[in-house]
Amino acid sequence: MTATDSLALAEFLGDGISAELSAAVHTVAARLPLPITFHPVDLSLERRRNHSEAAFQEAEQAIRAHGVALKYPTITESESPNKVLRERFDFSVIHRPVATIPGVATRFNGKVDLHIVRIAVGGTYEDAGRRIGTEAAVSIRVIERRPSMQACRFAFEFAQKRGLSVISASKYTIQRATDGLFEEIAEEVARDYPGVAHHAELFDALLAKLVMSPESYQVVVTPNEYGDFLSDTACGLVGSIGLGASASFAFDDRGDVTLAMFDPAGGTAPDIAGQGLCNPTAALWAFAMALDHCGFRGFGSALDLAVRDTIAAGHTTRDLGGSLGTEEFTEQVVVAMHQRLTGAAASES
Ligand code: ATP
Repeated sequence: MTATDSLALAEFLGDGISAELSAAVHTVAARLPLPITFHPVDLSLERRRNHSEAAFQEAEQAIRAHGVALKYPTITESESPNKVLRERFDFSVIHRPVATIPGVATRFNGKVDLHIVRIAVGGTYEDAGRRIGTEAAVSIRVIERRPSMQACRFAFEFAQKRGLSVISASKYTIQRATDGLFEEIAEEVARDYPGVAHHAELFDALLAKLVMSPESYQVVVTPNEYGDFLSDTACGLVGSIGLGASASFAFDDRGDVTLAMFDPAGGTAPDIAGQGLCNPTAALWAFAMALDHCGFRGFGSALDLAVRDTIAAGHTTRDLGGSLGTEEFTEQVVVAMHQRLTGAAASES
């Protein structure tokens, strides 16, 4: 996607703290020197209970119209909205950045700055398996060429744009057919990106080495379940599972991104909803990723760093030991973003 002089994106509103997270995003958006229009779609449980199909149809029209959406937390009752959206939009790749957050207490001193690119389908997650009598059970593990290719291409494109290296990780010495196919595809894609350093690593060894020398890892591309494990491991290293954001992508036959959805990690936090207490960090990072994806990399990066600056300066919400409410924290981010944009003379790329 290329930068124009305005931005329109779909916004999938959910439950609990969703409205407060959205308000924080709007506050920041209004202070960017860029006209931004949000196209809201109500995906709250109340609407889904009575008009589920209409709600998802509206979401589909909105994301297809704009190509990009922000999604806030939703309650799962009978069906998981995330699963419905993934299947409906054919999302096949998830990008999860995880980086050290200065100011957030952690047991680990290493500096993490990792981009996890994960195949969003297949692996062991497609098949819940079945019992064979009482003493055994079996499930099928699937690796497919198309989503593997899409994940690898996304990883290498991303790495190339930022001058990063790529590691593909799986258990290819044991899962020779499935992970073997994945690594074969990673090799194939790597040949199209001679400027991007790449090698394969066994996934278990990667986990150990990530803990011992996190600075060696930049972009890691991996099958579905490994990506899931790696995301939570990396989040644990930086001291928070709830402070990250992730992006889901769908692709056309040429391998170009057609739809992108950005969402904060973490749930609906019903215990604090409506009290102005929630931490909008993950939602603001999701918005930063959306800006970046839409070609406004300078703004995305300024917002991402502004949130880090704010936390590092000790201006935090209650969950991080501070005393700020959602709005006060967001105002601090706006100030830091202004400083980032003017101080760094950020130019759009
Ligand atoms: P869900 O069923 O939607 O996952 P939950 O309450 O079971 O909701 P979370 O939403 O992840 O799970 O909340 C776990 C704890 O973390 C709660 O105490 C909640 O208040 C807190 N929490 C979650 N998100 C935030 C946030 N953005 N800011 C502050 N606290 C949060």
